[in-house]
Amino acid sequence: MDIIHLLPDSVANQIAAGEVIQRPASCLKELVENSLDAGATRIQVIVRDAGRTLLQVIDDGIGMSEMDARLAFERHATSKIREAQDLFSLRTMGFRGEALASICAVAQVEMTTRRAEDETGTLLEIHGSDVIRQEPCVCPVGTNIKVSNLFFNVPVRRKFLKTDQTELRNLLTEFYHIVLVYPKVNFTFVHNDEILLELPAGTEKQRIEAVFGNPKRNVYTSAFVEVNTETEVVSIRGFVVKPENATRKAEQYFFVNGRYMRHPYFLKAVQTAYSGMLAADYQPSFFIYFDINPEAIDVNIHPTKTEIKFADEQTIFQILMASVREALGKFAMPTTLDFDAPNIDIPLPANQPVSTPQVVVDPAYNPFHSRGVIYPDKPQKNWESLYEGLQNTDYKVQTDLSSEETLLRAEDIESCALWQYGGKYILVPTANGIVLINQHRAHAAILRAQFIEQLTLTQGAMQQLLFPEVLELPKDEMVLLSQLLPDLRAIGFDMEQLSPDSYSIQGIPAQLANQAPVPVLQHILTQVRERGADTQREWREQIAQSLAQSAAIPYGKTLSESEMRDIVTRLVQLPNYLRGADGKIIASLLSNEELNRRF
Ligand code: ADP
Ligand code: MG
Repeated sequence: MDIIHLLPDSVANQIAAGEVIQRPASCLKELVENSLDAGATRIQVIVRDAGRTLLQVIDDGIGMSEMDARLAFERHATSKIREAQDLFSLRTMGFRGEALASICAVAQVEMTTRRAEDETGTLLEIHGSDVIRQEPCVCPVGTNIKVSNLFFNVPVRRKFLKTDQTELRNLLTEFYHIVLVYPKVNFTFVHNDEILLELPAGTEKQRIEAVFGNPKRNVYTSAFVEVNTETEVVSIRGFVVKPENATRKAEQYFFVNGRYMRHPYFLKAVQTAYSGMLAADYQPSFFIYFDINPEAIDVNIHPTKTEIKFADEQTIFQILMASVREALGKFAMPTTLDFDAPNIDIPLPANQPVSTPQVVVDPAYNPFHSRGVIYPDKPQKNWESLYEGLQNTDYKVQTDLSSEETLLRAEDIESCALWQYGGKYILVPTANGIVLINQHRAHAAILRAQFIEQLTLTQGAMQQLLFPEVLELPKDEMVLLSQLLPDLRAIGFDMEQLSPDSYSIQGIPAQLANQAPVPVLQHILTQVRERGADTQREWREQIAQSLAQSAAIPYGKTLSESEMRDIVTRLVQLPNYLRGADGKIIASLLSNEELNRRF
């Protein structure tokens, strides 16, 4: 008996949906991309319960004919490519013809659509791939798709959805990725009848400002410089933050040919361009748009992947690093791009001829070479000078000591003399050599362990603030904060919601007594968001880690011998004290052999 048979379309579509539509955010992305492909100038997104019950996208694009409306929901039905060759000249976001088929397989979809040349439009209702009705209707030009009860017929998927706050954050993140590349399109985003974002058409600058800006609310869009480089390989434009305006809370966005992408290697290029200019754990914010011949990147981009492969990554790395450096150097003068005055074009330095930026590519450049620059605790003031005469000063220090017991023994610490070096290291002489301990990291590791314990026992000590402070946040971070609130309160933050986008802070954890609470909280939010903490255990670890970093003794602080002994003694009681939770080295041995070799 033959046992192979073809799967019915509805089943095949459900399987495909598992790949394309993983959560409400991926559904939103597909719908909005379709509207953009349809040439819409105005796109409204209406969401209920973080997309679980409703995800609706209304556009004023070209609409569909009666026949196309029905075909659109078939698998591999697309108006965007006809043959494989077309893949190489793609100008649309979609091309696989999978999205609508996948969405209608796992939800209840109702669509009305009309083209300008048609008098009546078409209404179509599909539940789990079954067409319920199709009839003429009266509707405006464009398309209005309503996706209700996502995964109503796939309980497993439903179960894997995270909390509403997490899913809403995912929706907003996905939305940001799109709206930042389509500044000429009007967007609105409504969640449970509340308008979360209203983005009028404008320039890229204005769009960035509309999404993240608000002079009261943050500093990170208020002082950027423009990057603009044309080479044969790639063109790079965008905005990078001036070093003195960097924060711990960075917004980092790369786009290639109109698509958001993640690219850890290129991120490294930007970070390298800033090296020596930022305080420890400060990050540069940037919005960088690459334009590149589509043949030089992997065209068959998977709909859910945001990592993109480039043919010549090393060259682009160097061009990118050089352009960012150049932008930072050029605008080190008082010419800045101020987002508060969004209509002004980028000012050029006075009496300097306008010239095309020159990019010098150094083929011998090794991005991973450490520069031996000591990071100041505060952003460096005259960071421009750091470019002059940079030299490699690599010290060899044995860092890979696997055995914690043998590195430092309690009896070593009790009796020996301790020194502090360079405002940064505690030196402990031992039988095997000199152990160097990074004072800030050591203290941070100790505090982290303490905070985690307090979070589990919910008994953080609180210190009342003399003057309550106000924390204002963009919408997605308000959502995130409400998720973390019980834990933040448990650890000693006394805070109440003031308005839909602000909190007042009356008290902070005792260990943070002399810290400004607003940046501390912002740092926590950034950490949780970037590390993608979804479970309570994960976000508690992020909170503890972030607070520990804020509260730990800074570099440059002079320590008394008893303070040093206290830190070292408490450090060696931690289970893994050689490295911090972030993998950074805390303690390291400069061995006797190493020392003797020098003489
Ligand atoms: P793809 O976008 O990969 O072509 P989709 O399944 O997302 O595949 O959409 C199928 C087709 O339906 C599109 O090629 C397009 O012709 C049509 N379509 C989808 N959404 C819209 C819309 N909002 N406006 C006009 N046409 C649309
Ligand atoms: Mg599509």
